[in-house]
Amino acid sequence: DRTNASLLQRRQAAVARGVSQVHPIVADHAHNATVVDVEGREYLDFAGGIAVLNTGHLHPKVIAAVQAQLGKLTHTCFQVLAYEPYIALCEQIAKRVPGDFAKKTLLVTTGSEAVENAVKIARAATGRAGVIVFTGAYHGRTLMTLAMTGKKVPYAAGMGLMPGGVYRAQYPCALHGVSVDDAIASIERVFKNDAEPRDIAAIVIEPVQGEGGFYPAPVEFMQRLRALCDQHGILLVADEVQTGAGRTGSFFAMEQMGVLADLTTFAKSVGGGFPIAGVCGKAEIMDVIAPGGLGGTYAGNPLACAAALAVLEVFEEERLLERSQVIGARLSAGLRALQAKHPSIVDVRGLGAMVAIELGVGGDPHQPDAELTNRLVARARDKGLILLSCGPYGNVLRMLVPLTVEDALLERGLAILGECFAELA
Ligand code: PMP
Repeated sequence: DRTNASLLQRRQAAVARGVSQVHPIVADHAHNATVVDVEGREYLDFAGGIAVLNTGHLHPKVIAAVQAQLGKLTHTCFQVLAYEPYIALCEQIAKRVPGDFAKKTLLVTTGSEAVENAVKIARAATGRAGVIVFTGAYHGRTLMTLAMTGKKVPYAAGMGLMPGGVYRAQYPCALHGVSVDDAIASIERVFKNDAEPRDIAAIVIEPVQGEGGFYPAPVEFMQRLRALCDQHGILLVADEVQTGAGRTGSFFAMEQMGVLADLTTFAKSVGGGFPIAGVCGKAEIMDVIAPGGLGGTYAGNPLACAAALAVLEVFEEERLLERSQVIGARLSAGLRALQAKHPSIVDVRGLGAMVAIELGVGGDPHQPDAELTNRLVARARDKGLILLSCGPYGNVLRMLVPLTVEDALLERGLAILGECFAELA
């Protein structure tokens, strides 16, 4: 009996409750921007497994690369016996991380591990232990990254106090009254109240906040952050786990921010659906940790490396960075047209194809409308469109459609969203 209901009943009995699920659907198979459930119902996927599928489900080039690797080896543990795909991926990532300096790269498996390791490297390189992060940040669910993530419920609920040495400054957000000056002042406040600059190893920032609501950091803020870091010998870490792999119209979002990070974390869409992540940064910083201090049994798995190398080729062959800009422009235009009709949409924003709308009761940006957001997500699903919300109040609808999506399906997604607004907003 393979129905959604029966499988979800088994899920409920067998899977820990803390692992939540947005849509009551059990997927069976998928292709590019389309997912089919166990009952044969087809959905248009604007969630991409939370920003993992910029090259779509089962991209033929990615699958062929993994199949070829399957015929050779699936595991040696890179710290025991090296293999070429790991080395090649480090070379290729270093070419794409902004910065005209020598770089080195570490591969791991998840975004959380990437951030966790960036902090370890920053601590070793500076001899300092403190980390500054921002309101609304999401950096992961491991214990250190959970301390860095700026939302207690549900991520840290009931788990008690988190590891120390993590200080939170304000992420600039004009819509909610936090100017660039305010955000910089909040860092100065950390220096004054909580931790001296000489005790801070790194400032870790998402160039566009992902889970926190798709708020792009103003270029001016990034520049002032860089200056502050230089002044105090603090490392700037760009968490590009969600913004990376072309989502924002450049391979990494920092390309558009006018300054360079010392360390960059990446994951998600770099692997095209296979688990790969890592840290890339200045060679002299990356090399501070002695042999044995970095790595992991599965870290940089050969199948995932082969997938990621294919993803990078697909980006070139299909010109997906340009496509990201085109999709972003189309989404923004479509959503602005919707905003003209529905005052509940208080903001349309984004960078490249990392686009979102924010919903406020009666058009008031200070009254987040999570209820309407949830109803829109549910109605869209009933109409065959898979969407995700985000933001500290769950009132932001974000678009994470594959950059390989066919034009007709992109239009279909926008049309379904339009129908949902017409019916509910
Ligand atoms: N950093 C950012 C910016 C993220 O968006 C995420 C995942 N949403 C993570 C880190 C953690 O990645 P993972 O879930 O692969 O551990």
